[in-house]
Amino acid sequence: MAQPAAQDIINKPPLIVADKDLFVDHINDEHQDELAMFINIFTKASLREDSVPSIAELYSDGMLLALTPINNDESNSKNAAHSTEQHFINFTSPVHDSASLQEQYITLLQRAATKLGKRTIKLREQFFTVLDGYYASPNMYRLLVTAPDNTPLNQPGYAYLLDLNASFATSKPVSAEQSDTNASHSTDEFQGCYRYYSLRKAWQDADRSSVNAWIDVYIHGDTPGGNWAKSLGSGAQIKSVREYPEKLDHLSEGQCLLICDETSLPTVANLLENWQNPLPPLVIAITRDAKDISYLQDITLSDQLRRNEGFKHDNLLHIVNEPHTALSEQIVTTLNTHLTASSTKIDKVWGALEAADIKSLRPQLKSVLGLSRQDMTIQVYWRTH
Ligand SMILES: Cc1cc2nc3c(=O)[nH]c(=O)nc-3n(C[C@H](O)[C@H](O)[C@H](O)COP(=O)(O)OP(=O)(O)OC[C@H]3O[C@@H](n4cnc5c(N)ncnc54)[C@H](O)[C@@H]3O)c2cc1C
Repeated sequence: MAQPAAQDIINKPPLIVADKDLFVDHINDEHQDELAMFINIFTKASLREDSVPSIAELYSDGMLLALTPINNDESNSKNAAHSTEQHFINFTSPVHDSASLQEQYITLLQRAATKLGKRTIKLREQFFTVLDGYYASPNMYRLLVTAPDNTPLNQPGYAYLLDLNASFATSKPVSAEQSDTNASHSTDEFQGCYRYYSLRKAWQDADRSSVNAWIDVYIHGDTPGGNWAKSLGSGAQIKSVREYPEKLDHLSEGQCLLICDETSLPTVANLLENWQNPLPPLVIAITRDAKDISYLQDITLSDQLRRNEGFKHDNLLHIVNEPHTALSEQIVTTLNTHLTASSTKIDKVWGALEAADIKSLRPQLKSVLGLSRQDMTIQVYWRTH
């Protein structure tokens, strides 16, 4: 991907599309790892650990990315312009609206992941059929579904972007137009509503004729995701429009730390059932209701973890979220106490929590653990409005 000279970039008209600022803020806040990957893959620059990648500007033919040193505060702002590097990443076709901007961004993700030999996001429609629904723990509602034949069976964190408005009560998948007329849950409540949900587990049924799966939805009051899940009866169809493989490859070796709340408990449960890394991970699980920890306590651990007697007792640290103390503080205190008592050194981290919590947790964890970008993946799974 050729990079035009900085002067040519400055002379171009910036892109004007609806929701551009939202897009830029969202990527800059929550997807710096992807921008870092673009710079690594599509430019000759070497990315330093102490620099933060961000989108500086969007154009119809590409993105101008900036790499800013972390300590670029006001005191040295005179040098900032000199020390901030800029890199241009070309789109594969011109962007003219917010939909094509999303598409082009995803195309870059797919191209970068393919170059790295990694699994990547897929844009395609898939349909699931609900067989049953019940509570797996006091606030975790489980949908038992039949899943498409191409569903990955042992891939923790594999998530689907579900169209909550497109669930309908026929037993066969129908086209998009038909689904509107057949909709049993196409109410205003779910209009334009999409939510990611991970596969808690997927398996082939006894006669190997179909794939079954669990989708576990956290129920916390009157919210679209929970209302939608509870409204689905047996035979209801669920439509997914996008698939996202979670970034967990770095957990195959080293001492790992997993941090989850209710929305990422399904991924961590699936990880612990499939854990192969010889070192048992340390898990910090955060729930609002203390009783929801049964969700993790009840799982069948992988053979590897079952060899570690006392894993659930010693390595599963539970935080009952105390609304008066910042969650990041509760996590760092719990972690420090454990690390001091056990003399453990953490090599890799995966976590998924709320956006604002992550914003304050990330720098604190970086300073406590001193890990590189590749070894610390913390994802935004939801946000407070
Ligand atoms: C890759 C990925 C995988 C995910 N997998 C799962 C999964 O397997 N199961 C699952 O339940 N969720 C999962 N999520 C999160 C899910 O997509 C929803 O964002 C989340 O459940 C909130 O949706 P909602 O409709 O219930 O609430 P929203 O409409 O998003 O929020 C309504 C209100 O509830 C509050 N709120 C929202 N979520 C929470 C929360 N967790 N705790 C407390 N208050 C909250 C918000 O502050 C807001 O005020 C995943 C997200 C991603 C990105």
